Parts: sequence; C-alpha cells; structure tokens
Amino acid sequence: MSTTSVLSPTEFESRLERYLFERSEEWRAVRVGEKEVSEQAEIVRRYADLFSREQLDALREVEERESGDARELLYRLRKTCESGLVSAQLAEREDELENRLLAARVTFKGEEMPLRNAQAKLAVLPAYDDREELGAIQAEVSAGFNPDRLDLLRATEELAAEYSGIADAVERNEEEKDISLRDLSRALERASDASSAGYDKLRETWFTRLLGDHPDVPSSYHTAWMRRLSPLESTYTKDRATEICLQTLEALGFDLNAQPNIKLDLDDRPQKAPRACVIASDPPKVVHLITRAQGGLHDYQAFLHEAGHALHYAGCDPGLPYIFRRIARDHALTEIYSYIVEAISREPEWHELYFGLSPEQARENAEATTFLEALLFRRYEAKLRFELDFWSRFNGDGGDPDLYEKLLTDAAGVRYRKEGYLSDMDAGFYSADYLRAWIRSAQLRDHLVREIGDDWWRNAQTGELLRDLFREGTKPTSEEIAARIGFDPLDTKPLLHEVGA
Ligand SMILES: [Zn+2]
Repeated sequence: MSTTSVLSPTEFESRLERYLFERSEEWRAVRVGEKEVSEQAEIVRRYADLFSREQLDALREVEERESGDARELLYRLRKTCESGLVSAQLAEREDELENRLLAARVTFKGEEMPLRNAQAKLAVLPAYDDREELGAIQAEVSAGFNPDRLDLLRATEELAAEYSGIADAVERNEEEKDISLRDLSRALERASDASSAGYDKLRETWFTRLLGDHPDVPSSYHTAWMRRLSPLESTYTKDRATEICLQTLEALGFDLNAQPNIKLDLDDRPQKAPRACVIASDPPKVVHLITRAQGGLHDYQAFLHEAGHALHYAGCDPGLPYIFRRIARDHALTEIYSYIVEAISREPEWHELYFGLSPEQARENAEATTFLEALLFRRYEAKLRFELDFWSRFNGDGGDPDLYEKLLTDAAGVRYRKEGYLSDMDAGFYSADYLRAWIRSAQLRDHLVREIGDDWWRNAQTGELLRDLFREGTKPTSEEIAARIGFDPLDTKPLLHEVGA
C-alpha cells in the first residue's frame, strides 16, 4: 500500500512553480561561479512528493476528462511529472558521470588540463596542427566514457517507455512534439540537397580563409575556431560585444537596461562558465541573461541569440497560467525567437553599421556567417537523420555509429568521428526542435522583410510584431506560428535563402 499523498492539479502546479524556481536559481548560482558546489539533489529530495507514480496517474485521470486549453495544460503538467520521475531515479547516476567527466584530464604538450578546458581551448588555438593534435587527444578521452553514456541512455529510455506507456522512442517523441519527425526529416533532406551546390562554393572560399592550408575534408576539431571567425578577431572584439548587442536590440525598441525583469549578468569572473545562457526562473518576473565574452564574432551571435530567449520569457503575459509562461512541449517555439534575433548578425549592413567596415568588406564578412549557418544547418539535418535511424534500431541492434560518421561528414564536408555519436546526442530529439526553429525563423524573417522592409533588423516595428508573439508565452506550437505568418510548417524556401542556396 502506498502512503504517497496526491496533489490536485492546482496544488501540483503551484508547488512545481516553487520547485523549478529553486532549481533554476541553484543552477544560476553554480553557473555564474557564485557557488562552487551544486546542491540540486537536496532540492530534488525536498520536493520528492511531486514525482510519484500515483501523482502521474492522478494527473492523467483529470487530463482525460478535460478538453481544449485545460487539457493542454494538464498534458504539460503530466509530462513534467513524468520526466521528473525519470530524472529523480537517475539523478545520482547522472551526477556521477558528470563529475567523472569534470575530473577527466588530458595532457597536451606536457601540460595537464581538464577535458572541458581542452574542448574550450580548441576554439582559440591559432595553429592548425595544434588543434588537430588536441582535438584527437580530447576525442580519445571523451570516447572512453561511451559505455557509461550508453548505459545511462538505456536506463533513461526504459523508464521513459514505462512511464509514458509508449515503448518506441520515435513514436513517443512524435506524440509529445505533435509532429511527424520523418516528414520533417524528409523536407529538410530535400532542403539540404538543394543547398549543396551553394555550400560547396562557400566551403571552397571559407575553409581556406579560416583554416589556411587544409585537407579536402578537415576534421570537426576546427569548427569552434571557425565559428568565432577567429582570423577576423580584431574586428569582432571582446570589449565591444555587450555595447554593440545592446545597441542592436535598442534599434528594435528593446532597451534591456530599462527592463528590470531581465537580470543581466555580463561580468567576467574566472569561475563563470563561458557559454551564454538564459535562465527563466520565474517568467516574466525573473529572467536571467548570462554571457561571458571570449572574443570573436561568436560572442555577438551568442548574446543576440540568448537575448531573443530572454525577451520572449520576459515578454509573456503575466496573466497566463504558470505552465503557459514556463513550460512548453519542446524547445521549438522559443528557439524561433533566439534565431530571429541572432539572424541580425547575418545582415551585411549590420557589419557595416557597427564595425566601420566598407560595404564590400561587410558583405564578405556576412557571407562568412552564411557559410557558418549553412554548415550548422547541414550538420543538424544529418544529425536528425542519424538519430531517427539510431532510435528506430535502439531496441534491436542498438544503432550504427558508422552511420553517424558517414551522414555528418557527407553533409558538412567536415570529418566527424564515429566515436562522437553519443556525446553529440541531446535528449528528446532536440535536433528536431532546432531544425523547426531554423525553418520557422527563416519564414519569420521573410515575413518581416515583406511587412516592414529590408531594414527589419533595425526597425522598431519588428519589436512591436515580436512583442505580440512574446505575449503568448510558451503556449503556441512552432507550427501555429507558421500559420500566423502564412506559411506551411514544412516550407523551406525561406530557409534556403538563409543558407546561401
Ligand atoms: Zn537557444
């Protein structure tokens, strides 16, 4: 007999709100270097009553009696309870693997360093041969963790199958995202094919400009270096990143300094993780935007990307139920807004306006950003194809790492090693969410150009239009946004323009 008490959906929602607030704030404190030890497990223990089989069944029961928005809200509560149940059981194992990864060391040119630092260092090592050497060393150490990664993946998968009642991973994710992953993949594969000729030309120019002498198919160890546009570092300086990004947003009518609900943390502290991020602790009231500039164009792109997320969460209607301010079925919606703001960095005039470049130089640098966008898009399209194959076979032969190497290398023209197939896999087909955002943000840009004009990226009307979308919080799906701006969800024509096809 169980003595677990079951909360009503309203009680569950308000307790979940407190739980997620505490976890977000804890994560923020560790992330920005205010705390050295993460105490998430302690919070999980205190809120253990939220995540039980009984609670899950009770939520499902009420959900089945409801319809419309009320049903959607309960669906999201139930799925949150479900994933909480899974992670409560695996939290210790996840922490253990995470801590061993943090403790892993590599030796490069006689110097010992943490694995994570070695991976970060790949973005800033100026010599091709050094990146090649360090890349191989860190890949070797990382691959050593593959058996543990696979065990954890299998355990997660078994629990998710059990609690959701859907055994097949592809089917389970399609149900939650409410789309066909295979239709999405087919539409994207056609787009990727259509972009091949344009990409080959971009590759020919930019591999040489960014890498110097290089083999036909350079290894993936050089992508972080290329993403920073490192050889153009003197233009895209670390010092001006914050100022220029804030000005860029102001042109759209968003004054981040005047928005007290967006908590900016832009300081440079040694313990602060270098990756920019947004932590929406309590949207729209408390949204953290955290960045740490490292130098290079990537700083600017990362700031604009995260600002898109922050403005979305901070701009939602406070009158919406908590679930529709904080929880979505997936990440495909909020990534539209990060992508559209980041897309400003691909406008040639933006480079001209803020960096004092000639129109010709600005066009050239913007072309580099198109090259990077095309590389990333093609890589993700191939990743989705691989993941669909992998998860379809997971309960059979377990999937084929060779296929990872083949599909990604062919698509990107960059060599991906098969041993990377697990460390490169995000849970829950996140790749599909990014790809939907790729399609949608390109449609949105097309819509903005038609409605507002070529200067959409520095026009306050764009801000107004976005504000209306932000107000809806996390409630709409990515596909609903397509309908609002008059596109078929799988129309990739605008995307082809973005990737230089
Ligand atoms: Zn994002």
